[in-house]
This record gives sequence, structure tokens and C-alpha cells, in this order.
Amino acid sequence: MKIEVHPIGKVINAIDELTAPDIIREQESIIELEEKFLLGLKDVSNNKYIDIVFYFDRNNEEVLRINTKSAQDTGIFATRAPSRPNHIGITTVELLKVEGTQLHVKGLDAINNTPMLDIKPCNTTRYDEEQIHKSIIGEHPRIDIERCIRSSNHDDLLYKAGQLHGHICPGIALGVQCGAEMMNRIWERGEDTYDYTVTAEQANCVLDGMMFATGFTLGRKQLKLEYGDRLRFFFVNKEGKGWEVEYTDENRAFVNDQLPEELSKLERGLRVLRMDINRIFKITEII
Ligand SMILES: [Zn+2]
Repeated sequence: MKIEVHPIGKVINAIDELTAPDIIREQESIIELEEKFLLGLKDVSNNKYIDIVFYFDRNNEEVLRINTKSAQDTGIFATRAPSRPNHIGITTVELLKVEGTQLHVKGLDAINNTPMLDIKPCNTTRYDEEQIHKSIIGEHPRIDIERCIRSSNHDDLLYKAGQLHGHICPGIALGVQCGAEMMNRIWERGEDTYDYTVTAEQANCVLDGMMFATGFTLGRKQLKLEYGDRLRFFFVNKEGKGWEVEYTDENRAFVNDQLPEELSKLERGLRVLRMDINRIFKITEII
């Protein structure tokens, strides 16, 4: 049997090259439908979330097993990878607005000019949201933490890090700031965070915050402790490239200056999150 489908429109966004899905999702995209489908868009704007069905037109590969970040030798149907039979992608996106034949959306992981096949309102009402979330967490346990980093929600990160650390303090807030910054830098380079290790010279509150935000732990063998007298971290990939992040005396003076003693530990921690990363750490690229 042969089935013919025809695109109903295309994706417009700033990403022309194949890029990590998480990076594409950060962008706002426009879904532009062909004029003849305009009538079908009536009432679509009543939905805050819609499912987008599209065609991975720039991927000819077809495999049944694939290696992903979190799983080796995984069945293609257990992943969202494009190199699948029929090359169909489905993503739930946030609908920002509808203007004529254009739908402005956030969260789509399709690149510029991708052919669109269908649009439907997202409907998960038959399932318990918490169960869906748990099943996602089962596969990607750090997804909530990474979502906080990507959306610059450092407050939630700090509260969550406090659950590991036992209290919320300026030190753990500094660690969270450092860890979030490094994760963003690694993602910006399109690299896998699993390829990095960090060397720390001191075990303290800052270390716990950094560990929480990055997931670079002793257990995962992505953290080494080599005791020294400076509060600094060396983040390096397999080629030995990365960044040195140091909390210098100058940084310490800047931070302390903005944290009046009368504030609680929690208030001081939250205040650290409002500080410019370049004022609280000296970050040097290692090349
Ligand atoms: Zn602490």
C-alpha cells in the first residue's frame, strides 16, 4: 500500500542547519499554512497547546536502532529521532498567536522550511499529568533541572538545589549560577555535557550548587577533587578544552558588598541570583 500526503504549509524560523532539538525549541517559529487551508484555522487560537505533525525532509537515513545521549542501542520507536521509517515528527508546542495563515509557536523542534503535515489541539486529558511527567522523568531524570536552566529560572534551581544541600545559602546560589552558566556554554557549543569533567579544589556549599545544576557528580565520574587553596573549577571536555571559573578575592568583595548581614541566608542566596555572572566569577576559556 502506498499513502500520499501533501504538505499543508512550512516552518519559518532562524535555524537553517540541522541543530540539537533543544536549541531549536528555544526559538519562536512561525508555521505558515497555504492560503487554501485558512478556513480550517477557525478556533485554533482557543488552544494554548497544539500538536504539530511535520516531515523530516532533510534526513534520508532510516535505522531501527540508534544511540542517544541517554541510551545506547535503543529501538528507534523508543526515541524521537528523525532517522525513522516515514520520517514523521510530532511535537507539542505553545501557541502564541494566530495571524491569518500564520501560527506563531514556541517549542517546535523543526528547522526552517520543514514541510508541515497537520495541526491538532493537544489533548492529554485522558491521562494523569503527573504520570506522564513521571514517565518522562524516568527516561530523563534531569529534565526539570535543565528546563530551569534553559528558561533562566534560577530561583527554582536554587530551591531544588537546597533539597540536596540541606539549606539555602549564598554559597549554593553561587554554585547554581556557575553551573547554569557552564551548561549554557556547553549547549551553545553544541556539545554533550556528558563529555565534560570538572575539577574542584574545595568541597563547600558552592560545589554542591554547581554539582546540582550540572549533574557533574563524583558518582558519574565527572567530578574530581584536587584540594587547593582557591575556589575554582576547571570544566574541560575530552580534548582538554573548556573554561576555568574562579571566585577571586575581587569577586568575593563584590558579592559581600551587596549582601547585608541583616538579610537571611535565603534572601542572600536569592540576591546572588540577581548578580551578573561576570561580576561573581572570573571565567577564562581554556583552549
Ligand atoms: Zn550552604
